[in-house]
Amino acid sequence: MNFLFTADLHGNEIQYSKVFNYLNVNDFDFLILGGDLAPKSKDKRNPAAQKDFFKNVLFKLMQNSGKQTLLILGNDDYRLNLNFLRDNQHSNNYKIIDVPYTFNGYCIAGYSYVPYTPFVWKDWERRDLKTDNISDLRHDVLTTGMIDFDKPYNILDEFLKYSIEFDLENLCKGVDNKKLILITHTPPFNTVCDLMKGKDGKLRHIGSKAVRKFIEKQQPLLTLHGHIHDSVQNSKYFMQYLNNTISATVGNDHLTDDVYVLQITIEKNVNIERIKL
Ligand SMILES: [Zn+2]
Repeated sequence: MNFLFTADLHGNEIQYSKVFNYLNVNDFDFLILGGDLAPKSKDKRNPAAQKDFFKNVLFKLMQNSGKQTLLILGNDDYRLNLNFLRDNQHSNNYKIIDVPYTFNGYCIAGYSYVPYTPFVWKDWERRDLKTDNISDLRHDVLTTGMIDFDKPYNILDEFLKYSIEFDLENLCKGVDNKKLILITHTPPFNTVCDLMKGKDGKLRHIGSKAVRKFIEKQQPLLTLHGHIHDSVQNSKYFMQYLNNTISATVGNDHLTDDVYVLQITIEKNVNIERIKL
């Protein structure tokens, strides 16, 4: 099995055309897009503009490719468009892998939620560990109203009910971990994949403790991530082992024309190369 993974293109059309050109002329089984697919520039950060991007740009690239695309949304992609994306999978040659997808005996499972951030867009944010306190939750989002299926979105309900830890246990229930490829938009905590430089210039690990806990306990074959655009730049590495699991991030910056992809071959062993297109 031979596939490409990338994430965090945020609607950059030059980056997308490079990725699909590379996909189409090489011998890959499929492409995985690990979230943050649509534009987030000021004028396009709304559900209608993101939907236009899917319809007019991404669908065309996927239709014109002979290879299938597997995708999840990221925390900057409005959940309002999820039903639209579900309805158009077949005619546009892609699959949303929040329902696990099987290929050659491997289970490819995707997950969009990220741990709580200081930002107002909270369509895909959740309490990380089941036991996490939510007292520092930003409350103005409750009244601002995140856009979620046409109604104001009460994030507190979701934070109280669910957690990333809980969701992952359920997403991967009954799966043979040796055959599991887990795609989570958020990277695991305290790894080379989650090192972000703050506005104060300090480096911090801001990944998910629940994702890390899941990996350490269940030992999937491979986990792939995005979300922290500058992590590879900061940590100087794009992959590491967590016991027997390989965890890798693509570290893509959508503000440049260069796009990074992970080229992954799984035969007897897992082989990953990070390349710039
Ligand atoms: Zn992103």
